[in-house]
Amino acid sequence: MHRPRIRTFSVHCRERYGQTVGKIPLDLGIPCPNRARGGCLYCQPASFTPAFLRAADPLAEQISRGKASLLAGRFTRYFAYFQQETPTALATIDLLPHLQRMLSDPDCLGLILSTRPDTIAADLPAALADLIQKTGKACLVELGVQSIHDRSLRLLNRNHCFADFLAAVDRLHAVQRIEIGAHLILGIPGESEAEMLATVRTVCALPLQHLKLHHLQVIRDTPLHRLYTQGQVPVWNQEAYLELLLRLVPHIPAALTLHRLWSTAHPHLLVAPRWHCHAAALSARLQQRMVERGIWQGQRTPAAGSTKQGGQQ
Ligand code: SF4
Repeated sequence: MHRPRIRTFSVHCRERYGQTVGKIPLDLGIPCPNRARGGCLYCQPASFTPAFLRAADPLAEQISRGKASLLAGRFTRYFAYFQQETPTALATIDLLPHLQRMLSDPDCLGLILSTRPDTIAADLPAALADLIQKTGKACLVELGVQSIHDRSLRLLNRNHCFADFLAAVDRLHAVQRIEIGAHLILGIPGESEAEMLATVRTVCALPLQHLKLHHLQVIRDTPLHRLYTQGQVPVWNQEAYLELLLRLVPHIPAALTLHRLWSTAHPHLLVAPRWHCHAAALSARLQQRMVERGIWQGQRTPAAGSTKQGGQQ
């Protein structure tokens, strides 16, 4: 049997739903609370906002534009992806009606809430679990943690610490039904590869089901851009980053779904690194090297034990 070398989101969806599934980005128009504290060093929301998404539009309009843009000819089902800013900054009582409305669409298989670890209200996990139980749909909460090293979190002006992430995972895990994911950044200035590996291994030892890895990108007009122009921000070249992934991915448990392995900011806002290469080509190159070198996700985790992957691609 041929098994994929990486458990991507499409592998996960084919396994769970028998088909690939889209993600429709949505914007509640709630500003991220970290903006009042200067915002994260690298953050520029326009760099990942799709052209069809306008925060001022009602959610129904955003969904309908998202369906026209993303689903046409590619997917018939989708996840409502609250990706912009920090959706859980909205009080639970105000957030829930939006979520319920999204789940009432038969084409919507579930929710993805992308948020900060210090913005999980005490009443949110139970309310989400209740919603999942009633609708039978899925809910993934993606927590931006970026690094386990508080020194790096301070540098990035995240204004939360790693302990906040651990507390958020505990709180979400306690209600059982919510799937939990983490975002990590690879290449934070001052971090060694050993520190990045420690982040990956530490986060993967928690009760998570999903992971996103990003290489650090310098986006125009961010504080990081200023530091970059002062020569204080090294960035990955494509070759070095692919080789880093080949060393890190075997440490990620095979059961975790890897939604992303690199950032894809809009080219007109991206300062560095500029790789001039489509994500599909990068993915093909990574997969090819994994095949050539006999590497797969989970290969170097304790759970891999002595079992070998059957029938390599
Ligand atoms: S928490 Fe997220 S949305 Fe808020 S400033 Fe940081 S990266 Fe941007």
